[in-house]
Amino acid sequence: MKLKLIAAALLAAPVLANAASPEIERLITAATPGLIAIRHDIHQHPELGNRETRTSALVAERLRKLGLEVQTGIAGTGVVGVLKGALPGPVIGLRSELDALPVTEQTGLPYASRVQTEYNGKQVGVAHVCGHDIHIAILLGVAEVLAADRKHLKGTVKFIFQPAEEGAPDGEEGGAALMIKQGVLNAPTPEVFFSTHVGAGKAGAISVSRERTTAASDIFVARIIGKSTHAAAPWRGVDPVPAAALAILALQTIPSRQSDLSLPAPVISIGKIEGGVRQNIIPGEVRLEGTIRSVTRAQRDDVVARLERSFKDNAESVGASADFKVLPGGYPAGANSSALVDRLLPVLKAASSTGEVRVANGVYAADDMAEFSSRIPAVSFGLGATPDGVDPATAASNHSPHFLADDSVIAVGVRAFTGLIAAYSAR
Ligand SMILES: [Zn+2]
Ligand SMILES: [Zn+2]
Repeated sequence: MKLKLIAAALLAAPVLANAASPEIERLITAATPGLIAIRHDIHQHPELGNRETRTSALVAERLRKLGLEVQTGIAGTGVVGVLKGALPGPVIGLRSELDALPVTEQTGLPYASRVQTEYNGKQVGVAHVCGHDIHIAILLGVAEVLAADRKHLKGTVKFIFQPAEEGAPDGEEGGAALMIKQGVLNAPTPEVFFSTHVGAGKAGAISVSRERTTAASDIFVARIIGKSTHAAAPWRGVDPVPAAALAILALQTIPSRQSDLSLPAPVISIGKIEGGVRQNIIPGEVRLEGTIRSVTRAQRDDVVARLERSFKDNAESVGASADFKVLPGGYPAGANSSALVDRLLPVLKAASSTGEVRVANGVYAADDMAEFSSRIPAVSFGLGATPDGVDPATAASNHSPHFLADDSVIAVGVRAFTGLIAAYSAR
């Protein structure tokens, strides 16, 4: 009988450990309406990367009110809040982005953005169509709940709100890499990082990858240099247009024929081609810009070398020349610690609205959370945010002017993070 009781207690223990305590649940319920109001406020006042002054001030003020030690002005508009628990334990880093995108929102939501601004010389709308407003609300919720329950908190939680995740404006530095350069990982240094990203999927459903989360991302620029001449006398110059066409076709064989396909293939896309001013002049030059997505550092370096060869050899084959460069500021691939994912999976299951966690493969999207997760063990999880009544399979994706993220996922996110922190620091 006694043995049976112990067995029952052992079986029940993991479940009890993974469900939020009634006190944490009560705090989450109490905080949620305020967090939804903050989310709507931020959604209505979106700001582009490196310009998040209002958002950053709002976050800093909120964290100060909760009694956190707050540092501002890191990498421009970045904010860090440090919450010290009453009990000894690890330093845990949490990360949210602050920035919105140059997109004109078309969701029709009552709190939709009507903000317009200038971006790279063009008038654009600004909108939180990547869900970073939700991420901010979630982290502020975690701060609120843990600050109210400080007496039970083991260790220290470092809240990092970073600017310019979507990339800094032309000619500027920004984001996680700049925060790290300015010392965000020191004093105190987190021993683990947790983050989330919302996307299309049943609201509140959690997914997680056991290894790679996102791809490495690099931007390249190639110039094919010929010699301008009359379009009716091409032999008097060197036409860079067919050289560009040859190179574009040849580089398709890098993923399909030249890469080791025992790994996921790299992705190479040309997003911009420029050359010439009118139909009857052969231009002197064609300029191409593209992106490389790769899954390992070695694959990235291999693709860069092969791309350079593709541009140079194909240009030379028709008498033109080429130069090729990869711009600084690329992101590494993001990685989860599989040991940590395995250990913390029950917490994510308990928080997920479906009671299940989909184990996902890494995606080709890039995220500069990778700057943290390539240095420090991390768990980043996906959070479905498609409102009920909309089919997640056909819902507008992140960055679409129609992207929707449901308020209900804020509480799920707070539950997941507070659960991850409790489970991690329990050891
Ligand atoms: Zn995005
Ligand atoms: Zn994003």
